[in-house]
Amino acid sequence: MKFSEYQPRPDLLKDRVILITGAGDGIGRAAALSFALHGATVVLHGRTLNKLEVIYDEIEGLGAPQPAILPLQLSSASPLDYEHLYQTLEQQFGRLDGILHNAGVLGERTPLSEYDIDTWDEVMAVNLRAPFVLTQALLPLLAKSEHASVVFASSGVGREARALWGAYSVSKIAIEAMSKIFASEQTYPNIRFNCINPGATRTSMRAKAYPDEDPKTLPTPESIMPAYLYLMGDDSLALNGQSIDAQSH
Ligand code: NAP
Repeated sequence: MKFSEYQPRPDLLKDRVILITGAGDGIGRAAALSFALHGATVVLHGRTLNKLEVIYDEIEGLGAPQPAILPLQLSSASPLDYEHLYQTLEQQFGRLDGILHNAGVLGERTPLSEYDIDTWDEVMAVNLRAPFVLTQALLPLLAKSEHASVVFASSGVGREARALWGAYSVSKIAIEAMSKIFASEQTYPNIRFNCINPGATRTSMRAKAYPDEDPKTLPTPESIMPAYLYLMGDDSLALNGQSIDAQSH
């Protein structure tokens, strides 16, 4: 599918409650604004409160549904933190219609022979463990939705292992596998699970990975939103256990 041609209905996500991890910056920030402008009540997760407050104000200023803020450091979150998170969402909304697992860290671009073990642990904690634990913890809330969509952020190096991408590539390949396993187990038939590869996008993570690249040559996070909207809305109801490219032409 050519997502550049996809035209979502203005009310595609009306009355949906959608959690976005890493909503304070980059692609997550663009997704939060875009989902809210299509009618969703967005729950803004991140680790930096002031960034979330800025997006919160932006969304309110646009007249979109009032968002919620949920700060949590994913590299060190405990089972109790996830229990609190569940209870907060349960009390405030009673259900969840979608999760965009977008938060991620790059780690180091270095050979495995020299890869720092603490960095490895951090990348695995944020990119893989957190999406697993968060999804598992929130399944009962997703089960209360008519059609829930869980979307995991993958990458080109999540499709094929690539030298020098270390823990990042391993974590993204594993997230693709995890998404397929959730999708095929069908514990709750109303919940679908898919992956999205944003492709090279103008964010601080990309700039860290490719410091010599001119960011202006890259698509903005806003420009890849059609694919994110497609996966989050009911136009993709038939899609489960798939992995799509946001920049497919
Ligand atoms: P980004 O600009 O670096 O944003 C990452 C977000 O994740 C930030 O909001 C960050 O919070 C949050 N985050 C990082 N570590 C966290 C932690 N320990 N706890 C809570 N939140 C944390 O990255 P991006 O480029 O938008 O990437 C978004 C997703 O797309 C990632 O999963 C990435 O792997 C994937 N991706 C991106 C590209 C690309 O070209 N940009 C390509 C392929 C895949 P702070 O703002 O507080 O740091």
